[in-house]
Amino acid sequence: MNFDDSTTQQTSELELLKIQRDEARSQLKETRNMLQMVMDNLPQQIYWKNRQHRFLGCNKLFVEQFGLENPEDVLGKTDDEAELKLCDAIRALFKQREMEVMRHGIPQYHSLENVEADGEERWLDLSHVPLFRDGDIIGVLASYRDVTSRILDEEELRKHRDHLSDLVKNRTLALEAANQELANTNVDLGNANRALAEANKAKGQFVANISHEIRTPLNAVVAMTELMLDTQISQMQQEYLTTILDSADSLLFTINDLLDYSKIEAGKLELEYVKFNLRETIESSMKSLAVKAYEKDIELLIDVDPDIPGFVKGDPLRLRQIILNLVGNSIKFTTVGEIGISVKLNEFTSHYIDLQFQVSDTGIGIPEERQAAIFNAFEQVDNSTTRNYGGSGLGLSIVSQLVELMHGTISLSSEYGKGSKFSFNLVFELVEESFGGRRRDPKGKFKGKTALILDDNKEFIRIIGGSLKRWGFDVLVIENFEIFSKQILSEEGQIPDLLIVDSKMRDSGEIIDVVGAAKKFYGEKCKILFTLTRGEMLTKIEGDSILFSSAYMFKPIVDFELCEKLQSIFTSEDDNRHSGMMHKSVSLHSGESLNVLFVDDRPLNQKIGKALLTKFGHKVDFANNGEEAVEKSASQVYDIILMDIQMPKMDGYEATRHIRDREKKTGIHLPIIAVTANALKGDGDRTLEAGMDGYISKPIRSEQLQNALKKVMEQRGGC
Ligand code: ADP
Repeated sequence: MNFDDSTTQQTSELELLKIQRDEARSQLKETRNMLQMVMDNLPQQIYWKNRQHRFLGCNKLFVEQFGLENPEDVLGKTDDEAELKLCDAIRALFKQREMEVMRHGIPQYHSLENVEADGEERWLDLSHVPLFRDGDIIGVLASYRDVTSRILDEEELRKHRDHLSDLVKNRTLALEAANQELANTNVDLGNANRALAEANKAKGQFVANISHEIRTPLNAVVAMTELMLDTQISQMQQEYLTTILDSADSLLFTINDLLDYSKIEAGKLELEYVKFNLRETIESSMKSLAVKAYEKDIELLIDVDPDIPGFVKGDPLRLRQIILNLVGNSIKFTTVGEIGISVKLNEFTSHYIDLQFQVSDTGIGIPEERQAAIFNAFEQVDNSTTRNYGGSGLGLSIVSQLVELMHGTISLSSEYGKGSKFSFNLVFELVEESFGGRRRDPKGKFKGKTALILDDNKEFIRIIGGSLKRWGFDVLVIENFEIFSKQILSEEGQIPDLLIVDSKMRDSGEIIDVVGAAKKFYGEKCKILFTLTRGEMLTKIEGDSILFSSAYMFKPIVDFELCEKLQSIFTSEDDNRHSGMMHKSVSLHSGESLNVLFVDDRPLNQKIGKALLTKFGHKVDFANNGEEAVEKSASQVYDIILMDIQMPKMDGYEATRHIRDREKKTGIHLPIIAVTANALKGDGDRTLEAGMDGYISKPIRSEQLQNALKKVMEQRGGC
């Protein structure tokens, strides 16, 4: 190789080296730029310095905090030379860290430093790591972040949390205190409740005792007045005594209401649960009000669905009380028109029957705004009610409670001045005899016969006409007495098989004349049935030469009784006079004289018993308590015992049990009738359980006593 060749070769190697160097430089630059770019994008301030604390580099975030733009502005400078506006405390801290790290070569990572910078508290998250070259420390790399706001937020959060937990703690304490207070209040309440229950019990007992004490002399007033009414007295004395009797009766009613009300208040009102004749209870309740209604010339109507069963299980006395209360109110608040009870079947299953009752009247009515209030205790329509009609305002509140106890509800619809309708339903349990023992409705039995109803009451015609049609009658109706009278006088019109005459359409004389003429015109084919409301009319009929053998029934008419009456009219020659449904029962006076043992610890009651029984021709002996009754009935022969229940030494139940035990040996049954102080107490059921044959309630009314004696003696086959 010649010189030129070698020179050329060297030159090209040099060129290559130059190119390689340029390439390396550009790569280095690129790497540095890349590194700077990474640094600039980190979310921390970063700088690195040599051992003389001069900047070797930094990122953008670092210079920007001092208002500089370019990291190169600080290169080669110390903090002072670069005029970085760092507060003294931070500058000192950085310096100290840099020195420590460069001296010991140990990194200090992420320490959280708290510095006071220009009067402000600041928090820095700070790392310093040594930079090495060939094992020697050549500088330090620092990175930091101001985390003051995060720390402050955390602090705020902590404070908030502390505050919350304080709140919770305080609330918990307050709640505990409230709980304690509640527990104390509960204890107080329990004590107060006990005291209240005691007070209620005492009050109930007090009311019971007082009413018993009032009832006993009142019973005597009622009984003695009734006895006096039966003696020879003047018209005026009769009126005075009747007023006494009415007042004593209404006082008794009020006392019973008060007693019931106090029981309701004490939650002690309990129902009896016995088998009883439903229809008879409804009908007899209505009949017991007949005298009062007809005294006011008000029609009383009973409309009981013929499909309703006879016997059910429930509380007959409370059912009676509901009816007496509602119908009694109707009579009180009605001056003209009619009062009716209707009973329909709502539904029945194999166990229960739900009946819909309605008591309606054509009385003064109840203004709409007072209709809800009158079901509350002591509420009346207005203040003048007591003045004009009397009453305590307790009746309806008791009735609604009783209805509720019998699983029913009660409602009222009324038009002021026109009348009221109280509707309620009651549920009773069916028993084996419910349908078996029922009086049968003889559908179609009188087919081919014609009945003429002479009556001016449309409801009566509807109800009785309906029954007659069911039994097969063709029914004719004449509502106007004049029209009937004209027909008879001119001997016109169809001749019926049955003439039902309302005896109060005209005065008794006119009725007797016209019906007498009708009897002549119609002849024997036509049977006459008078519906009566007063006893005097009966005397007139019996005294009339043509009509004396006519049949009669007292209103209110019960359809089953009417049916029985018609069967006897059309099937026998019986003159019917002595089987009439009088509202004064048939006297026992003419019957046998009984030997009665009257058991009662009160002399006043013995006096009443003696007066009533001797009036009917019976002989009376007395026992002062159950023990005496057991002894006397062992040594002497009596036909019947009337036994008081509450007595000292031995009560009526126990005495009866002793007597019944004794009879097991003799086989002779001595009838015992209980005389209960309060028939509503549930005594009825207990008396029968104790082996008694029946019961009557005080005050002993002569009619009630006669009926009870009659019933027992009939069962015995004696009367
Ligand atoms: P009392 O009849 O003893 O006043 P009640 O509770 O039985 O008490 O009745 C409350 C009130 O409701 C009566 O005072 C009367 O004002 C009114 N009232 C009840 N039934 C009737 C009725 N059938 N017609 C008109 N007002 C009635």
